Amino acid sequence: MNYSLSKIMHLDELLFDNRFIHELPGDPEVSNNRRQVIGACYSHVSPAKVVKPKLIAYSREVADQLDLALEACESDYFAEVFTGNRLSAGMEPYAACYGGHQFGNWAGQLGDGRAINLGEVLNRQGQRLVLQLKGAGPTPYSRTADGLAVLRSSVREFLCSEAMHHLGVPTTRALSLTLTGECVIRDMFYNGNPKAEPGAVVCRVAPSFTRFGSFQIFTARGDIKLLKKLADYTIRTDFPHLGEPSPTVYLAWFEEICRKTAEMIVHWQRVGFVHGVMNTDNMSILGLTIDYGPYGWLENYDPDWTPNTTDASMRRYRFGNQPQIAFWNLTQLANAIYPLIEDAELLQQALNLYAESFEKGWEDMMAGKLGLSVFDNSLTAELLIILQLVETDMTIFYRKLATMDIDNRTPNDISDEVLIMPLMEAYYVPEQLTSEYKERIGHWLRNYMRRMQKDETPDQERRMRMNAVNPKYVLRNYMAQLAIDKAEQGDYSMIDELLKLLRHPYDEQVDKEVFAVKRPDWARQRAGCSMLSCSS
Ligand code: AMP
Ligand code: MG
Repeated sequence: MNYSLSKIMHLDELLFDNRFIHELPGDPEVSNNRRQVIGACYSHVSPAKVVKPKLIAYSREVADQLDLALEACESDYFAEVFTGNRLSAGMEPYAACYGGHQFGNWAGQLGDGRAINLGEVLNRQGQRLVLQLKGAGPTPYSRTADGLAVLRSSVREFLCSEAMHHLGVPTTRALSLTLTGECVIRDMFYNGNPKAEPGAVVCRVAPSFTRFGSFQIFTARGDIKLLKKLADYTIRTDFPHLGEPSPTVYLAWFEEICRKTAEMIVHWQRVGFVHGVMNTDNMSILGLTIDYGPYGWLENYDPDWTPNTTDASMRRYRFGNQPQIAFWNLTQLANAIYPLIEDAELLQQALNLYAESFEKGWEDMMAGKLGLSVFDNSLTAELLIILQLVETDMTIFYRKLATMDIDNRTPNDISDEVLIMPLMEAYYVPEQLTSEYKERIGHWLRNYMRRMQKDETPDQERRMRMNAVNPKYVLRNYMAQLAIDKAEQGDYSMIDELLKLLRHPYDEQVDKEVFAVKRPDWARQRAGCSMLSCSS
């Protein structure tokens, strides 16, 4: 293709190739009534009109990926299009049908209840990128809800998807964050206190938004013909390297999903990300982090922590359980695609591949976090116990561990007190540092030093290795909340500030130290900082 190298100045110049709706069966009904949609992968639906579209932030990197010039992004037309008020040339909006297991139970049809896909852009590098509005009005899949989104959850999704990308975690992206100028009523803690909040829309971007639940719904309905159509379409479009669909290719496809999912979970565990709602409708077929709702970041290292108040009693989606839940979710996908393969043994083997790739990936990741060239089981296991003995900030701990001087020191000559000094900023409650604790971590630190000296890894090399995988800056829950508080007062500056900060999460940013310290005490129990509900 002979593209000019100049950027796209006007959204109408975007090149669309809306393959999903042209190759897969759609819902013949065009009304927007909420309903069960049978025999179709999607329904045509128009975004709702809003009173006062306003762009409050956009991602330069995602705009670049779409070849969009600054002028195109900063035009009024951009705000109109990405709140859903107008369609640019080539857009053909639709909502997808899918089902899912929610908190372990089959929930039947869910679908894009407040997501509207605008179309598939082909960029100049030939990448296929689906543009999807979240919060742009009801669809046939909205069930009892309104199809809208509020500013607070939209800021959280916008910032976190970009932050995750820069951390190197596979994720859907976010192009824009806009205000609709309308109010949305939400009862934030489902406790009889509804409030009007500013309505907002995020435009998400990914090669595909297909979920595990997209396949589950057809098998659950006994529609194996449609299951096969969607699987064939997905393989040809998103996994073309696997070749033409056949039972062998379906299996290879599932194996690849298992590997990609394992990779994604290893990354989550590396950076301390807790998704919060790992239902099968929130699991991307491409192994991307998708649907940012009541997610959160580990502050003190606690594998039992979940930010989601809706899951507070069961803690099904707690940090330490994410690897097992991914396995459970993959098992549901295996059940869903069984009719295409009809060999339970082979599917079971593929699932085992998830367990193996997760374990191998996790060990390599933990070795990296400690600056080791090879995983060390006993060193790692003891550390993960120690991190839970007292409230220890996970992110700060690994960065501070990297600063420790090991070269030319004799571990046995250094006292516990001196050894622990570089780590002090990671501790939330200094009174918890008993002599017993100091002795235990002192012992561990000496073993760590000996291991590095035995490996002949110099300090400088260890630091480089560690700082490349242990972020200095993550989107701490309270940071997002501060940006939201300001945005709700009409000041959007902190959204941009955080977006800029989180572009370089592994770098020292001297003027941004304030964001690299422990969560402040006021945020310990504040809503939005330590607890989040699904209300968004
Ligand atoms: P979630 O687990 O939050 O991703 O959402 C589960 C299902 O509820 C999905 O089908 C969503 O599209 C739908 N949903 C969530 N919030 C809304 C809303 N405000 N309006 C319509 N549908 C929604
Ligand atoms: Mg969802």
